[in-house]
Amino acid sequence: MQSSYSHSDSRRGSSSGHSSVHGAAGRTSAGHTSFGPRTPHPAQRHERHSPQGGRNPASRGGGARAKQFIHPSRFIQEAKTVEKAEYVPVNAFEDFAVHKKILDNVRLKGFLKPSPIQDQTIPLVLQGKDVVGIANTGTGKTAAFAIPMLHDLITNMDHRAIIMAPTRELAEQILQECFTFGKGCGLRSALLIGGASMHLQKRDLRYNPRIVVGTPGRIQDHVRQGTLLLPFFNFAVLDEVDRMLDMGFINDIGDILSKISKDRQSLFFSATMEPKIEKLIQKFSRDPVTVSVKEGATVDNVSQNVVYYSGSNDKMDKLHDLLIGAECSKTIIFDDTKRAVERLGRELNARGFKVDEIHGDKSQAQRSRAIKRLKADEINILVATDVAARGIDVSDITHVINYSTPNTYDDYCHRIGRTARAGKSGIALTFLPR
Ligand code: AMP
Repeated sequence: MQSSYSHSDSRRGSSSGHSSVHGAAGRTSAGHTSFGPRTPHPAQRHERHSPQGGRNPASRGGGARAKQFIHPSRFIQEAKTVEKAEYVPVNAFEDFAVHKKILDNVRLKGFLKPSPIQDQTIPLVLQGKDVVGIANTGTGKTAAFAIPMLHDLITNMDHRAIIMAPTRELAEQILQECFTFGKGCGLRSALLIGGASMHLQKRDLRYNPRIVVGTPGRIQDHVRQGTLLLPFFNFAVLDEVDRMLDMGFINDIGDILSKISKDRQSLFFSATMEPKIEKLIQKFSRDPVTVSVKEGATVDNVSQNVVYYSGSNDKMDKLHDLLIGAECSKTIIFDDTKRAVERLGRELNARGFKVDEIHGDKSQAQRSRAIKRLKADEINILVATDVAARGIDVSDITHVINYSTPNTYDDYCHRIGRTARAGKSGIALTFLPR
């Protein structure tokens, strides 16, 4: 097994290690140290202007906001205690005809058996089919595409994969999973996200990465500057398509897909299927097979309730009481605006809680660090805006607190989907004025 970096394509003969799939630590740290002055990222732009983030008064310093009316009863639901029949996968990981190194890495990661989306998607992708996966976050969809994709790349030296995701965080997480499953396979990669140095990304691209993961806006920046040549890519993955369209990436995505090699395999993952998503898929796929594991929605495992407050002092006191409760061991608190998130973070910090904040005005390095600290138990409370929190995959979040109500019910589901991940249970509490 290769233990040091070397590109599998010896023609390029590189030996620098920072962007190899089996050089996870190096790549990540390189990425983080490289984060330079920020350019606004589409996700951030969205936070200011889009229907969901835009109504969010972030850029208006907390002005009026058009929120969808959500009846309080929709915030109350017992976690479904009905034991769902445990899914019995048709395949064991060992049954998949993928490179042994990948299977070793899956085992090392501790995955014992495929999740439903993995069980049903991996064989199809290995057959070369285009696949549409209807799956919520937390169902294991990343491995569902990463495992067969990595196998394809190892098997076909002329193949290159491009993965698009709505947020920087999700893009980073996807790359991290590719590192994990592709360890020792010698596949070079590049992470193209906003808030990070274009210069260093250009350097990574000069090494001809086999895997590019990025957000559509930054991918487009590179395409426009001629630093990313899309016709060489023949494996495309679009993760969280519904979110990407919500965030206004439709034109970027269409543009990117139309420039990728026509002779390609395409995978689309989305939690919902709307006409505009269907249209996009129809236009850019070839006889796709749809796999749906939507039943088992993550929110079913979440015990949901409301907390009524009268006035801001009472609101803060109630939050404080909740947070000192023994069962509240890892919490994400959502608030409306960047300013509100900052204020709440400061207040909780002053009260002695171990807290960090993420929102669109934080640099990518700060956002990544906050998530790392949460994962490492250095903090146990993260205060966030909707946009910044998308794609956070921290498996042991016990509570999601909506300190302010979400803009839409869809946002609500997305927020509370941060808890009860990977089959665990979780609690979601929504603060409402009396
Ligand atoms: P994803 O939906 O890809 O974000 O995955 C959600 C979480 O489930 C991640 O923490 C994964 O590491 C975990 N996970 C994915 N597949 C499996 C599996 N087959 N067995 C155990 N955990 C898994």
